[in-house]
Amino acid sequence: MKFRNFKMIGYVVYGRGSFNQLDEIIAPHRTDGKPMIFLVDHFFTGKPLVERIPLRGNDKIIFADVTYEPKTTYVDSLAQQLKDEFGAVSGIIGIGGGSTMDLAKAVSLMMNNPGASADYQGWDLVKLPGVYKVGIPTLSGTGAEVSRTTVLTGPTKKLGMNSDFTPFDQIVLDPELTKDAPVNQRFYTGMDCYIHCIESLEGTYLNEFSKSYGEKALQLCRDVFVNTNEWTDECDDKLMMASYAGGMSIAYSQVGVAHAVSYGLSYLLGTKHGIGNCIVMNHLEEYYPEGVKEFKHMVEKNGIDIPAGICKGLSDEDFEKMINVSMGMKPLWENALGKDWEKIMTREKLRALYEKL
Ligand code: NAD
Ligand code: ZN
Repeated sequence: MKFRNFKMIGYVVYGRGSFNQLDEIIAPHRTDGKPMIFLVDHFFTGKPLVERIPLRGNDKIIFADVTYEPKTTYVDSLAQQLKDEFGAVSGIIGIGGGSTMDLAKAVSLMMNNPGASADYQGWDLVKLPGVYKVGIPTLSGTGAEVSRTTVLTGPTKKLGMNSDFTPFDQIVLDPELTKDAPVNQRFYTGMDCYIHCIESLEGTYLNEFSKSYGEKALQLCRDVFVNTNEWTDECDDKLMMASYAGGMSIAYSQVGVAHAVSYGLSYLLGTKHGIGNCIVMNHLEEYYPEGVKEFKHMVEKNGIDIPAGICKGLSDEDFEKMINVSMGMKPLWENALGKDWEKIMTREKLRALYEKL
């Protein structure tokens, strides 16, 4: 048995309005003449949050286009743009949902590592630390704020830059920033966290470390999506901590069936992470009976639409592609179904599942 010795984020500040401390927090990390780069989710273009960004000297705001989930080509072009304009930078501060935070982590790494980001898609391929990086979530659920990966779509695969250099040096958890998230988006991203909890708690990799975080995160998800009738500030506070704890839970266990299947959808159809997980979870009674029952209740209670029929009309070749991507996620299947998972989840069975989605 080899135990995972995992690298955690450097500093955490939590609280409503903690964003106002950003200037003070990043001050010691400024190097003469080198700017801080604020990579901000394009949703905030022209919004009041932009006025609150503590710009100094030649600092720069770049709005991140997250219409599609992050691509390696986008990471490389952002890093190149910064090298051309400034040579070097003091740090990268990602303000947004999981997509923007992942972009910020990846650009930070690519400021100091040679070659292209696609070269580093995998486990422990990154050799040098990136520049100082800060993550500031504006949506709660992915756990990207605590994770050691940054999920990127590259020329040949959708895979993260998993490494000890990937976690943020600092995160700022200010629930006020999630206030204006649209109901559907908040639900899809929130369900990412709920599903992380179910997959971790029902998995064979479970241990007390993961369980302690997973149970707490699950309770917080229930508080906001099951036990509350009206969304309040307290719900934003709770969901932000659920995301953090859910991320800590899977850091020491693994995700499972919903994620493994949803990766196939996202690879072939570009389905986004949160909604893709929901589409799959809706059909996983066989694997997570209690979790799926509660999931359906939450969907109904919160008045959310989960798309159906997204695999209609796909060719055999398309199904093969999705099955290949999904079957490739070995640790996820092993966590979900045990060492003999290949006997349980056959290609035929997976095909039948995809056909239902
Ligand atoms: P997202 O970052 O893709 O954003 C979804 C939409 O919400 C975008 O249109 C964005 O502009 C908008 N948005 C963001 N904040 C908002 C706010 N406060 N108000 C209104 N709109 C807002 O969504 P997400 O679900 O947070 O992240 C999904 C991404 O995270 C995927 O790319 C996925 O691969 C990645 N992910 C990463 C990890 C990790 O460990 N690194 C884990 C899970 C998911
Ligand atoms: Zn997820």
